[in-house]
Amino acid sequence: MTLKVTIDPRDNCIADMVCVSLCGDVFEMADDDGKSQIIAKWRKDPDNRAEGFVSDDLKDCVDSAAQSCPTQIIHVEPA
Ligand code: SF4
Repeated sequence: MTLKVTIDPRDNCIADMVCVSLCGDVFEMADDDGKSQIIAKWRKDPDNRAEGFVSDDLKDCVDSAAQSCPTQIIHVEPA
């Protein structure tokens, strides 16, 4: 199974790096604007850094990030 992970609205990211700390396999901080983004290898559209499709074995990882994000902008759903 694949999971769809979105950072939406990404503009609301406060760059506290919680998601990166909890799930660095999926999230990283962008060099240009300093906000969280999906690591490129998980994106279907390389230009959309707010959306990724990850394998099921990363469910605990992305769920913990989604639950802990202080602005609640990380969303996980079945793809
Ligand atoms: S946990 Fe949320 S607010 Fe913090 S860096 Fe990640 S997406 Fe941004």
